This record gives sequence, structure tokens and C-alpha cells, in this order.
Amino acid sequence: MTSHDPGTIRSQAMAELATANRVLVMRGVLDAFGHISVRDPEQPDHFLISRNLAPAAVTAKDIQLYDFDGRTADERPGYLERFLHAEIYRLLPAVRSVVHSHSPSMLPFSVSSMPLRAVSHMAGFLAPEVPVFEIRDVAGDASDLLIRNGELGQALAGVLGQSAVALMRGHGWVAVGQSVPHAVFRAVFAEANAKAQAAAVQLGEITALTDAEAIASAVANHGQISRAWALWSQEVAIAREQNDAQRSAR
Ligand SMILES: [Zn+2]
Repeated sequence: MTSHDPGTIRSQAMAELATANRVLVMRGVLDAFGHISVRDPEQPDHFLISRNLAPAAVTAKDIQLYDFDGRTADERPGYLERFLHAEIYRLLPAVRSVVHSHSPSMLPFSVSSMPLRAVSHMAGFLAPEVPVFEIRDVAGDASDLLIRNGELGQALAGVLGQSAVALMRGHGWVAVGQSVPHAVFRAVFAEANAKAQAAAVQLGEITALTDAEAIASAVANHGQISRAWALWSQEVAIAREQNDAQRSAR
């Protein structure tokens, strides 16, 4: 079940997921916290995610297999917030990958009256609106804001619905995609768009994309995801080689 035999579609998914963890760190979406998962290609009612580890340290050997109740046969400790991934996969069959982040440019929009809008053509997927999950609606006003169980995960998945991204008030956000590169692409450009919007607001009134512009941009960019993924995964491979070279030179 936790086989790492190279060549199986699950082991390929594990390797891709390990790369995605490092891409998201290099791109400023994840730091010590946050995670990315993928629906298991062999058992679609399961998903793959790293054991409890900082994303920059994740390798294919650290990936665990979970069911939608957050259970695994792997005895190594897992992420507390795995329920967020589980319930999104359970509710939304088209979702193949989920990113959860606490990144600094997105967080302000989870607590502000100003909505996060698609201001950049690279983030057309944010339209028509980015829903905000209010955990107080489910957990009252004294929770630690973490998605610790299936009930909270289910509520978040319901707020996300068909959107690409949902903000989580005072905590972070989730992005979903039809593949790991797709979810990574959305996560990277959601963060970049939030940074751009916050900068633009300092300059004056902003002009967001119309819904039609956003849809047209998202369609155009969808064909370019592989270009971004090829570049970013290559950067990860180069960084890894440099690390290995430095280690062996010591
Ligand atoms: Zn979190």
C-alpha cells in the first residue's frame, strides 16, 4: 500500500507530489506550514499527502495514503488538517489536487472587507468571486481555527463549492485543480494576484477583470500550465542537485 516501486502510477503521483511541495516553497506559497495533496490515481476514494513534515523536506518516501475519514495504515504522524483535503475530495469528484496555505499576501483578504478579485490575467480563475469560509459558523468563537475534523472539512468544502480558491478567515486558504500542476499553478498565481491587488489599492481605485475577461484568461492560461510546471520542477531539480553537490563536497 505504501509501495514506492518506481513505475506504478501511484509512485509517479508520489514523486510529483514531492516536487510540488518544493515548488510551492520556492514560490512563497508554503513555508514551515501548509500542504498539498493529490487524489490517489489507483483508489480515487483515497488521497496522497506527506506525513507531518515541513514541505521543503518532503520526498516521495514521506507520502502517506489516506481514506476520506482521515485514516491511514502508515504509523508515522500525519498533518492535523488532513480532513480539509479529505472532505474536498469527498464532496467534489472533479478535484484531483488540493493546496492549503497560510501565505502572507492572501491572508489579509480573509479578514478584510475588501474582496479578493482577479486583477491579473494570470489569475482569471479567481472570478467570479472568492468565497470566504467563516469557521465561527460551525465551531463557535473560541476555536483554534484549524480544520481538525470531518465536520469542519465538510463545511469548508461546501463553501468552496465550484470555486478554484476559498479563503479561510484568519487562517489561510485552499486552491484546487484537476491535476497537481494545475493546483500549483493556481496557488502560485492566487498569491501573486493578492500581492498585486494589495499594491494596486495603495495607488488608487482598482479595475478588476470582468467575468468574461477572467474566463477567457483562464482558458488561455490553461494551455500554458505545462510550461510553468516544466520550469518550476526543473528549478527544484537544480536546487536538489546543488544541495547534493554541496553535501558531498563537505
Ligand atoms: Zn492551516
